[in-house]
Amino acid sequence: MSRVKQIVLVAAALLCAGTCWCATPDDCQALRKHGKRPEAQSCFQSLTASRDPYVRAEGFWGAHDYDQANNEFRAAVAQSDKNAMYRVRWGMLLHERFNNKDADDLFNEALQRDPKNARAFLGLAIVSADGFDSKAIGWAEKAIEADPKLVEAHELLANLILEDADTDKALEQADEALKISPEALDAMAIHAAVEVLGDKSPDMWLDKVRQVNPTYGEAYAIVAHHLDINRRYEESIAYYRKALDLDPELWSARSQLGISLMRLGQEDEPKKQLQMCYDNGYRDAATVNSLRLLDSYKNFVTFKDQGTILKLQKKEADLLYPYFEAELKRDIADYEKKYKMKVPGVVQVEVYPDHEDFAVRTLGMPGLGALGVTFNTVIAMDSPSGREPGSFHWASTLRHEMSHVFILAATNYKVPRWFTEGLAVHEETEASPEWGDPITPDVLAAIRDKKLLPIADLDRGFIRPEYPTQVIVSYFEAGRICDYIQSRWGEDKILEMVHAFAKATPTPEVVRTVLGIEPDEFDKQFMEWLNRQVGTDVSNFDSWVKELKVLAQDAKEKNYDAVLQQGEKVRQMYPEYVYAANPYEFLADADLAKGNKKAAADILTDYMKRGGRNPEALKKLASLQEEGGDKVAAAATLERINYFYPSNDEDLHRHLGTLWFDQKNYPGALREFSAVVALHPLDQADAQYNLARAYLAAGERDKAEEHILASLEAAPSFRPAQQLLLQVEDSEKGKP
Ligand SMILES: [Zn+2]
Repeated sequence: MSRVKQIVLVAAALLCAGTCWCATPDDCQALRKHGKRPEAQSCFQSLTASRDPYVRAEGFWGAHDYDQANNEFRAAVAQSDKNAMYRVRWGMLLHERFNNKDADDLFNEALQRDPKNARAFLGLAIVSADGFDSKAIGWAEKAIEADPKLVEAHELLANLILEDADTDKALEQADEALKISPEALDAMAIHAAVEVLGDKSPDMWLDKVRQVNPTYGEAYAIVAHHLDINRRYEESIAYYRKALDLDPELWSARSQLGISLMRLGQEDEPKKQLQMCYDNGYRDAATVNSLRLLDSYKNFVTFKDQGTILKLQKKEADLLYPYFEAELKRDIADYEKKYKMKVPGVVQVEVYPDHEDFAVRTLGMPGLGALGVTFNTVIAMDSPSGREPGSFHWASTLRHEMSHVFILAATNYKVPRWFTEGLAVHEETEASPEWGDPITPDVLAAIRDKKLLPIADLDRGFIRPEYPTQVIVSYFEAGRICDYIQSRWGEDKILEMVHAFAKATPTPEVVRTVLGIEPDEFDKQFMEWLNRQVGTDVSNFDSWVKELKVLAQDAKEKNYDAVLQQGEKVRQMYPEYVYAANPYEFLADADLAKGNKKAAADILTDYMKRGGRNPEALKKLASLQEEGGDKVAAAATLERINYFYPSNDEDLHRHLGTLWFDQKNYPGALREFSAVVALHPLDQADAQYNLARAYLAAGERDKAEEHILASLEAAPSFRPAQQLLLQVEDSEKGKP
């Protein structure tokens, strides 16, 4: 639009106050695009008096009266059913008002009316991009195919490609947009983001943005978003703040700012920022859920010491504290030694029994594992009580997340996703071969179908998965790559890679310089190594699926002879399979049915050592071990269950406490008997008494006395407690 026409329009819009017919929706948009807010506002206002419902819809939308705009679009569409563009614009309104589902429908309806409608394809791309859906790129490409001059499609594609960390291609698309329109603000912002990600100054590009539109905060928000994706949270927060300085009403940026601050463990400012969004009608799922989560913090207990903060939900805090505290300290100590660095600040661990609360913490983050998440030095994770018994090894997850805390700090948050995830997965099994996730059928199928990605492209598998299990497969692949590097080049090379990534060196170069091998050659040799490990499983996989089915049926029908005959063969075809309906448990049941306890104990021991985690199976093993006279092994088996069980099994804690007590492991006995007390058992007297005798044995007489009294308070005539009290008093007298 020419400058003269702009001025005329502004004047007209201001002068004719609401009944002017000279402005079009495009004119008003142009005013807004150049930062002329009051003028744009009156321009939109003037449109609301139009005789055309579509024009009125645009007017109300521009004037932020979304409900009325929605009504007008409905009227416009009813009047001209064949008009695809009305549906596209209506869809965009709904997308802006957090209703992607209906927006998606409208874009598809538009395409039924006009199969080459570039803006409908763009709408689909925008909606898909919101959910980090891999289809987004395809839709954006279709939009460009339908209209190569559609600036926004090039800008969106640039943005999506940059999310996938392909800088060169992203810039290519941004430049395409700038060729078509020298005022393509988002394309300029992409350039700025690339500069910031490469630790260079974005000023030139941001100055250009401000020359076109001095209040275009969105450009800063785009930079912030890419910092966020790359886990550079502190810098991202600074850019969101700049975005809001320019445009305090950029609610999406304000909401993101609140969420980012919350991720870093803050409470007060996030609450203020998010509430402000909410009060101003910006109520997308992320804002609403985050506010709800902040509100739920009142139900948490905070344990603080010099280097750590542990937040546990009130209901389970007493029970979980000793276990989490011990692992937390052990992880930090191990990594300080291993990574040769100090813990980077205060580490905060939040444990959520309600998975939905935890999910809120991960909102808006692509491809994150669903069990734990790390933001700088803040770890949020599921509580063992929020998951199926045996399905979640919380100590392994904590170990994984803690690796991120160190590696993110060591690389100034510049580490590629595949490497930090791979290393974290690698650390799980380094802690114990029983930890981490044994190879799953999904992964075997992916290897069979040759779906593993080259090391240089592995990030893509995390950020924009192309098939449903690709994120899991990529975790596995990245973890095994780190295993391979350690086994072939040694542990020091891993640390060298960490330091190379800290300098923002891209993966192919790190592989070349640190490992001295071309990335292609690395892929080839890694696959050969992996094949030696799991090749047999992979080639057996299809027949294993069939034979396991038969075995499961035999087990169900209690055909124990058949199970014993076939079970071992099926087990050997894929010995890492310890998940639901596994040959180990079938065989153990058959052995027990035949009265062969020794064989049952042996097969269950193998199951446990391969990472089998069904608490019932392991309890069975522990009692077989105890019956066989091996109380040490029984205690060790029960102890493992604590790492992947909701921990509310009173009997288990009592039994393990007794085993530890008998073996003179008093710290272990204290922890287990404390767990029983924390579960508020019916028999308080007995629980307190057990705890008292563990304290006494550990030499803590005062504590012992305290719990004897608690026991007697619950049951004044409880003889064992009375006797223990006499014993304590006697020993008091004998004290020097
Ligand atoms: Zn991770």
